[in-house]
Amino acid sequence: MKTFIDESKITALLDKAKTDPKKAAAVITKALKLKGLSLAETAILLNCDDKKTLAKLFKAAKTVKEEIYGKRLVFFAPLYITNYCANNCLYCGFRADNKKLARRRLSLDEIKAETAQLEKEGHKRILLIGGEDPVAGSIDFLEKAIAAAYSVKVGRGEIRRLNVNVAPLSVAGFKRLKNTGIGTYQLFQETYHEPTYKIMHPKGPKADYEYRLYGMHRAMEAGINDVGVGALFGLYDYKFEVLALLSHALDLEKSFGVGPHTISVPRLEPAFDTPLAGNPPHPVSDNDFKKIVAILRLAVPYTGIILSTRETPKLRNELLALGVSQISAGSRTNPGGYAGQHADAEQFVMHDSRSLLEVVKDIAKMGYSPSFCTACYRLGRTGADFMDLAKPGLIKSYCLPNSLLTFKEYLLDYGDKQAQQLGEKVIQKHLREIGNKKLRALTAEKLKRIEAGERDLYC
Ligand code: SAM
Ligand code: SF4
Repeated sequence: MKTFIDESKITALLDKAKTDPKKAAAVITKALKLKGLSLAETAILLNCDDKKTLAKLFKAAKTVKEEIYGKRLVFFAPLYITNYCANNCLYCGFRADNKKLARRRLSLDEIKAETAQLEKEGHKRILLIGGEDPVAGSIDFLEKAIAAAYSVKVGRGEIRRLNVNVAPLSVAGFKRLKNTGIGTYQLFQETYHEPTYKIMHPKGPKADYEYRLYGMHRAMEAGINDVGVGALFGLYDYKFEVLALLSHALDLEKSFGVGPHTISVPRLEPAFDTPLAGNPPHPVSDNDFKKIVAILRLAVPYTGIILSTRETPKLRNELLALGVSQISAGSRTNPGGYAGQHADAEQFVMHDSRSLLEVVKDIAKMGYSPSFCTACYRLGRTGADFMDLAKPGLIKSYCLPNSLLTFKEYLLDYGDKQAQQLGEKVIQKHLREIGNKKLRALTAEKLKRIEAGERDLYC
């Protein structure tokens, strides 16, 4: 079947777009208008590696990010519910043939215990993840698991937005998933290059390239407005994957009037007893990885970019400036990991083991406002409504004040003295910078109400 991934077109575009700093400079200038880029324009940027073009690209990505989202950064934590899996993705520690991995499937009480632990650290957003487990990955169980996580309230903590990254469902299954009250449904194609996909996914339901490729279409057909796409960098040529991600975004926009809410950029990491993961067939250098993030920022300016703890703190800090808008922190990739057990059951190796509090402090030192905001989703500003705000850069008017309000809550409820001092400076600085007088006054008033004990205030 012909799909929206036109392999020969992508390959031809990459072959045609020779290194041309002049053309690249023109594309970068166009990108600063925040209207996104075509496949051909993106191919020109992908083929440029000279120092001057890269410096221009990185500078433009930073401008676009701050123009649209302001200097705020949203936090979340993954919650792994099962590492049983029917598939055998050659790169994943959870693959069915990995007989050495300790298998764990959480009960509803264990899911509640994990959620409680995350709430105690101050998280408000979680990403529920699991292997393609016929038991704990089934929609029957997911419905109960999501309700269990949402039901946990420890102290002043609560989960205000739960996103999901599990195997793709049928339209009927997605309808049930939507009714649980999830935020974003995430699914990574891993590689859009079909021949490589076939090698990497030799058995199980995931072996069906097209079923996975159209997972987001089914989710949107079922009424899930916010979907998150991604590719696992290292499996195939990163330039191909970036153009394919863009093709995916364009096709969703064409079919449903709205593109993906987020793009994730996982990079292949070593995994327990999984030789391929430690030897990526197409390794992506740190510099190329920065290029990927910056180009995506310009190509789909209104789409959030998510980075996980797979990367080192130093690289993560650099990537924030280039366009990343959401990061995980204090993560564990083994089911039951937050309760402090079962390290032998993890999915892959992480390179940022800092706690949420440590990351918050580091981010604040860099002048960013950490955000635990979930306002858009709770006010129904999702899908096309969100994009209508994001596209003209208006979302910043909501994102920044809401990040300050949720950061304030975090500092009061979970911060130590050092974080509170650092954080207060960041809050005051950003508050002064809110250009709209009315909005500034409203934010200041809500900050006071939070200090007096109110919670969950947003603009
Ligand atoms: N099992 C479901 C699936 O594969 O779609 C959802 C959860 S899976 C645990 C989440 C993601 O982990 C995968 O989509 C893949 O991109 C990523 N992943 C798997 N192995 C990895 C590795 N060795 N390094 C980095 N990311 C990896
Ligand atoms: Fe299973 Fe997902 Fe890992 Fe593949 S990536 S083995 S589907 S958990």
